[in-house]
Amino acid sequence: MQLLNLLLTLMTIVVWIAVFYPKTNLLTLRVLDIGQGDSLLLTLPEGQTILIDGGPDHTVIEKLGTYLPFWEHSLDVFVLTHPHEDHLSGALDVLNTYTVEGIISNPAKDEQTASWKAWNIKLATTKHMSIQEIASIHTEDHRVTLDLFSGSEVQKNQNNNSIVLGITFGEVRMTLMGDAEVELEKELLQTTSFFNSPITVLKTGHHGSQTSSSTAFLEVLHPQIGLISCGINNKFNHPYPETVERLKKLGTALYRTDLQGTIEVMTDGNIVEVATEKELPI
Ligand SMILES: [Zn+2]
Repeated sequence: MQLLNLLLTLMTIVVWIAVFYPKTNLLTLRVLDIGQGDSLLLTLPEGQTILIDGGPDHTVIEKLGTYLPFWEHSLDVFVLTHPHEDHLSGALDVLNTYTVEGIISNPAKDEQTASWKAWNIKLATTKHMSIQEIASIHTEDHRVTLDLFSGSEVQKNQNNNSIVLGITFGEVRMTLMGDAEVELEKELLQTTSFFNSPITVLKTGHHGSQTSSSTAFLEVLHPQIGLISCGINNKFNHPYPETVERLKKLGTALYRTDLQGTIEVMTDGNIVEVATEKELPI
């Protein structure tokens, strides 16, 4: 009975009540410039906010303050793609600063870090769903669907335990790959129809690393727009030059947070526009 109550409560976070939100007719994805890591703010046409990862430190709070109205102290959903510090550490600041209506994560194998322990303590007091319990989220009017994907088994490499998101709004399809590497890309290609056809926007896996955005994956997805989240002069040398070349060769318009700051992708479900904080060429 307790479990049923919990599930019913959690379901209320995934079927939103449109009347609470002002409609803009635009979906906005912001890849926040938080240094070396990932933090993506998705605002749906009806105003709901979903934050995917929290970046490596408290920088995310400053960025959320920039892009959310000053009176806003809550987020509808927080998705932790996987428990590496460059995605998790700032998430703790988010949970300490904002009321988060619901959290979605992948109960991946344990990490022996202070952040992971703190995260689990937070989870005990916040509505939480695992990726295994929820396959998709949609707005009440069904204009926007968010599909959530993960690999079939827990992997040794936490990057391949990433939650991957698929966003469909009208004609526009986006995928946010977390830190997925080639092994997870392969599984998604083989098992998931979302990854069988070209895509409008790809947030590349693992900061544009050598082990992500494989040729096989890119040839199927053929993204029109590619987004890379990484820190300037980062010690991992992300993005990998050949990965950038693979994308450019397909004609993908590339945007990078290390060079251009926060990237904003806006769409009405048909036309897509991209704006960047800094006007630097790639
Ligand atoms: Zn990462």
